[in-house]
Amino acid sequence: VKFVYDFTEGNKDLKDLLGGKGANLAEMTNLGLPVPPGFTITTEACKTYLDSGEEPAALRDEVSAHLDALEKEMGKKLGQADNPLLVSVRSGAKFSMPGMMDTVLNIGLSDKSVQGLAKQAGDDRFAWDSYRRLIQMFGKTVLGVDGDLFEDALEAAKKSKKVTVDTELEAADLKKLVTKFKKIVKSEAGRDFPQDPREQMDLAIKAVFDSWNGDRAKLYRRQERIPHDLGTAVNICSMVFGNLGPDSGTGVAFTRDPASGHQGVYGDYLQNAQGEDVVAGIRNTVPLADLEKIDKKSYDQLMQIMETLENHYKDLCDIEFTIERGQLWMLQTRVGKRTAGAAFRIATQLVDQGLIDEAEALQRVTGAQLAQLMFPRFDEEAEVRQIGRGIAASPGAAVGKAVFDSYTAIKWSRSGEKVILIRRETNPDDLDGMIAAEGILTSRGGKTSHAAVVARGMGKTCVCGAEELEVDTKRRRLTVNGTVVEEGDVVSIDGSSGKVYLGEVPVVPSPVVEYFEGRMHAGADDADELVAAVHRIMAYADRVRRLRVRANADNAEDALRARRFGAQGIGLCRTEHMFLGDRRELVERLILADTDAERENSLKQLLPLQKQDFVELFEAMDGLPVTVRLLDPPLHEFLPDVTELSVRVALAESRKDPNENDLRLLQAVHRLHEQNPMLGLRGVRLGLVIPGLFTMQVRAIAEAAAERKNAKGDPRAEIMIPLVGTVQELEIVRDEAEQVIAEVQQATGVRLKLALGTMIELPRAALTAGQIAEAAEFFSFGTNDLTQTVWGFSRDDVEASFFTAYLEKGIFGVSPFETIDKDGVGSLVKSAADAGRATRPDLKLGVCGEHGGDPESVHFFHEVGLDYVSCSPFRIPVARLEAGRAAS
Ligand code: PEP
Ligand code: MG
Repeated sequence: VKFVYDFTEGNKDLKDLLGGKGANLAEMTNLGLPVPPGFTITTEACKTYLDSGEEPAALRDEVSAHLDALEKEMGKKLGQADNPLLVSVRSGAKFSMPGMMDTVLNIGLSDKSVQGLAKQAGDDRFAWDSYRRLIQMFGKTVLGVDGDLFEDALEAAKKSKKVTVDTELEAADLKKLVTKFKKIVKSEAGRDFPQDPREQMDLAIKAVFDSWNGDRAKLYRRQERIPHDLGTAVNICSMVFGNLGPDSGTGVAFTRDPASGHQGVYGDYLQNAQGEDVVAGIRNTVPLADLEKIDKKSYDQLMQIMETLENHYKDLCDIEFTIERGQLWMLQTRVGKRTAGAAFRIATQLVDQGLIDEAEALQRVTGAQLAQLMFPRFDEEAEVRQIGRGIAASPGAAVGKAVFDSYTAIKWSRSGEKVILIRRETNPDDLDGMIAAEGILTSRGGKTSHAAVVARGMGKTCVCGAEELEVDTKRRRLTVNGTVVEEGDVVSIDGSSGKVYLGEVPVVPSPVVEYFEGRMHAGADDADELVAAVHRIMAYADRVRRLRVRANADNAEDALRARRFGAQGIGLCRTEHMFLGDRRELVERLILADTDAERENSLKQLLPLQKQDFVELFEAMDGLPVTVRLLDPPLHEFLPDVTELSVRVALAESRKDPNENDLRLLQAVHRLHEQNPMLGLRGVRLGLVIPGLFTMQVRAIAEAAAERKNAKGDPRAEIMIPLVGTVQELEIVRDEAEQVIAEVQQATGVRLKLALGTMIELPRAALTAGQIAEAAEFFSFGTNDLTQTVWGFSRDDVEASFFTAYLEKGIFGVSPFETIDKDGVGSLVKSAADAGRATRPDLKLGVCGEHGGDPESVHFFHEVGLDYVSCSPFRIPVARLEAGRAAS
């Protein structure tokens, strides 16, 4: 194997081997752009080292050969006393991990060569400053010395000189500082700072390898779901200096605006400075456009290079560059990060420029970006008072009164107040408060903190880890830079930017949602540019996708919205949602019925109500399939709370005024109480033990369909049986249903074609799908229950209890209730789909669990050959887009 590649040998497609930075440096070198010469040590070398604890034997020789070549090219030797070659040693993984791993600059400086550098540069101060930077960086990252010790010494030097900025220290001061730094190294690391340049380089390479397994890097990878076994490459690059005077400098640039996508000159420049100075914000940068006045030649060359890069990468690129005494050098480029809106705009702009085709444009955007564009936003024009900023943990814009405990959150929200729950961090006890709040704000914790994970799960706006905020839950207030926010003060939080504002910031609806709702049309004015881009990309996606997209909707209003959003039917109508509110009492009576007559009477009262529900739903979805699922949930959900009821009964007894109905209810509640209601009397089991319940529902569906037909409508109802575990259950329900449908046909004289199918949401159903398909015309995978039963995870409890720990330990990168667990639950879906189709080749297959609207899961369902996914109305555009991306 070859462990080292010269920049002239690699290219941008070798990111696995050379890391992102190395691959792109090679690409730029080959494009003839001015890249300081250098070479890259591969991720393979890193992996070998990390596995065995030793650098591969061949590595040293290969590095020597490449260093020789570099020295020849540069006409000077590494660390050469009179004219030293200096190099940087930088990490560079396949996926960018900003700031997570190590970098050492100015390798090659020593007590001797610092003099040579001073002479060559004609600048003593510069040379000693470079040397002290090397000792500082090397001491900290390679030798593990506490970085604060160097910072403290630097501060002390400035204090004794009575200056405030580094640049005011002179050569003599820096020389003294070098002596001090070397002492720190000696006492802290127990060794001298190495004077041998090759030893410096070798130790730095090893340190970069080791930094792959640093705590910060590991945590970052878990959060970003980057595999742990990729390793990092190491780039050795000859140093160029932006801090050699006013004709030098350093900057960053974008080939187009990463916020709007517009072409133009975007970036920052800092004269007479090195890269870290820009990042550290030590001095103020100037807009890149000002470089034209400072150094027109370099500016023109940079513009030229940016154009070359864009045309070559066919995408927005970001760039780091340095100018050393009027000579421009490219230090890095990569395809740049952008906002969600810019991603859509740029993709269509590039199509218009003829750089990419429509299929490629579809790959340039994601469902997650589209989802982000669908959240309401704060009005950008509004005057705001920002008081802090945390991590954007769950998008959205939330406004409400500050409350500092869950109890108050619940109490206030019950009385109609909007509240923001503010905590240092949340824990499972805060769950009810989080549900009651408009949004959640914490001062501690990252993207996988309890608050963040739970809020995302609930679709609630959340900003976490806003560290400047001092949250004092005892005194019910927070303090931030002298501002005090008391309980009841209004705050606004932006879950997309992490910004926290005092007072109410007006919220504007998302233009993308307005567009899907049909209230805004593409291309009217500049503000609609985004909408026009979304419109075009959605059109590509719809043209190429194979998966159909349906909605989970239980009423006409949701159904109509879903239709506007592009739904091609309803994949799941949960009829239990039709029995809430006023109708609960009717269900209560059904459950309490002692005699057949009582039961039949309550069913008779329910029938017309159910029928009307279906008439409305079929009308809203006229011409499109509507899958109606027969009643599913545990019955006790329809009964009053046991404690409340017991108290009521006890009070009545003590007043010697017992209420007959309450007593019967209490008995029923006790009778129906289950330890594990999710695994109890629900789904098809209900239909089998409560005579007449399912047939009432089937009758309502059939009569509604007949009525719609008579009204010249085109109802396409499908009847779905939940929680089936064996084909026998299905057969019994099916026979009864067919009989009822025949009766309705007879009575109305309308011919009905009602498909009958089942959910596959129990492992046994998946395992016996071949048999079940004998009795089912369609399967709809209920991946919520299937995940619950395959993992043995209670879907109502685990996300708030131990999932945070699981996510932190990296057991999974994301909740299996959010993204389908391909290896476990997914493989059951696949085998059940195959077995079902083997029995019945025209079996229709869909999924209606939450996964139906999750981008990664949609790709999986495409791959296993389902016919459709069904999801909540707001996720339909995301599912359409991802189905298109999966197919193209
Ligand atoms: C499922 O289990 O995936 C499903 C869609 O049904 P419900 O969520 O109503 O149990
Ligand atoms: Mg279910």
